[in-house]
Amino acid sequence: MVVKKTKNPMERYEQDKVILEVRKLNKHFNIDSRMRVAAKSVKAVNNVSFDIKENETFSLVGESGCGKSTTGRTVLRLIEPTSGEIYYKGKSFLELSGKELRKERQNLQMVFQDPYTSLNPKMTVGQIIEEPLIIHKLYENKQERVNKVLEMMERVGLRKDQYYRYPHEFSGGQRQRIGLAKALIVNPKLIVCDEPVSALDVSIQSQILNLLQNIKKEMNVSYLFISHNISVVRYISDRIAVMYLGHIVEIAPTDELFNNPKHPYTQALLSAVPEADPHLKKEKIELKGDIPSPIDPPSGCPFHTRCPKARDDCKYAEPVYTDINEEHRVACLLYEY
Ligand code: SF4
Repeated sequence: MVVKKTKNPMERYEQDKVILEVRKLNKHFNIDSRMRVAAKSVKAVNNVSFDIKENETFSLVGESGCGKSTTGRTVLRLIEPTSGEIYYKGKSFLELSGKELRKERQNLQMVFQDPYTSLNPKMTVGQIIEEPLIIHKLYENKQERVNKVLEMMERVGLRKDQYYRYPHEFSGGQRQRIGLAKALIVNPKLIVCDEPVSALDVSIQSQILNLLQNIKKEMNVSYLFISHNISVVRYISDRIAVMYLGHIVEIAPTDELFNNPKHPYTQALLSAVPEADPHLKKEKIELKGDIPSPIDPPSGCPFHTRCPKARDDCKYAEPVYTDINEEHRVACLLYEY
């Protein structure tokens, strides 16, 4: 028997260009003991593993409350994980502290869902975009910083004469451009985009998605893209992970996931996407019931309470990942042999 050697994170970075590797990540929030519930924690993220390559857009998709935003924040250590491993460029990100952590954070930025609340209303656009340069001490000279800010404003589609204006003077799409410029000004290698277009009108959404695509090519950046909207995710992603109740239930390249979905939850999500051709009829798969509480998740397969294909053993046997092919894996008992 040939035993396949597993590469370590540094080998995966150097040989396969894996910029971020997340292994068995868990984030459980303790509940205030005054709340009279049996369980003591909200299991928001459970055993989540994935990787992102250089210049790749990797997306997490799932219904609201499935743990995708918590995963994004935990990866950046805006909240600390309960357990698991995170490697950036082959080195453990969780072992960094103090100066080292601050330095590396420059390479990992975030764009938020609501561009208005994430921008300080008392600061001008110029000050907002310049702030990360000051925090990371990137340019000592004020004029150099101003030039850099003006260059970045142009790059994201803002005008130079808007430098002295305030966030409330801009539309939602323009505010998202400001948020993007603020993230990009420090030349990051990975940006976590948390529902970056869901607060915008549909016509503006495509402008921001195209901008993200162009910036990815021009600046060689990778994205961890988080969205509940499977159509948006299809447009922008190279690979997609589908999340349900804090678990990744299926991972595949975008075309593979849409052409050959395996997990019953993925099949239900995709069945709700309208066809471009109205003559093509598709049966919508209705899921029964609501998403169970992450305080008291179901035993066995977390999806068994809503799954149209559930069997008796799904109530107690927890699925492990099955490889459909080299890049496509699914956690469902139907595919275990
Ligand atoms: Fe459905 Fe069972 Fe597969 Fe879970 S393991 S998705 S309940 S068939």
